[in-house]
Amino acid sequence: MITSSTQRFLRYLWIFFFDLFKRKKTRKQAYGFIVFVILVLFMPYSAIIPVKGATTKNWNPKSFWFYPWGHSITHKGIDIFSPKGTPVLSSTHGIVFYTANSGKGGKSIMILGPRWRFHYYAHLDSIKVFQLQPLKRGQTIGTVGATGNAKGKPPHLHFAVTTPFPHLHLWDQKSVHGWKKIFYLDPVKTFTKSYDESL
Ligand SMILES: [Zn+2]
Repeated sequence: MITSSTQRFLRYLWIFFFDLFKRKKTRKQAYGFIVFVILVLFMPYSAIIPVKGATTKNWNPKSFWFYPWGHSITHKGIDIFSPKGTPVLSSTHGIVFYTANSGKGGKSIMILGPRWRFHYYAHLDSIKVFQLQPLKRGQTIGTVGATGNAKGKPPHLHFAVTTPFPHLHLWDQKSVHGWKKIFYLDPVKTFTKSYDESL
């Protein structure tokens, strides 16, 4: 199904809305909240390649939705190869949703950005942010590594972008897991600026 962050996020959204809506006194705020959610959905979106010094040459152009890809079946992000210790930058403005140090992603960070998009950074060597920390685009959030299931492989950043509000037009009948593309955006298509241009 859709990612656990997406599920958690939609649950929070629903609980918050329903809490306001069920009492007459706060019902107006409930509608205000919906307006806020919609406004954020249409916020300007600007993203950079999230590894310092990296260009389009640092990943395989076929990286996104590569098949077959082990237990994940399809590769739902891109792998940006860079030496261990290279600074990992926040691709967008945002807020740290969580940091983790377990499972397939190893040391990883989830950042909630404009348009309610989730940005996933995995296999980090070190994490330099904390939960709920607000971030500016380009801010260092950690360093490139090979943790989790990237252990023993060349250091790289696994980067994925998901949306909790499905983009139905991205439904792809031809590829494996094609319907999931309504939740997983192609990170390459989200990059609007190189790191230098954003400074
Ligand atoms: Zn990957």
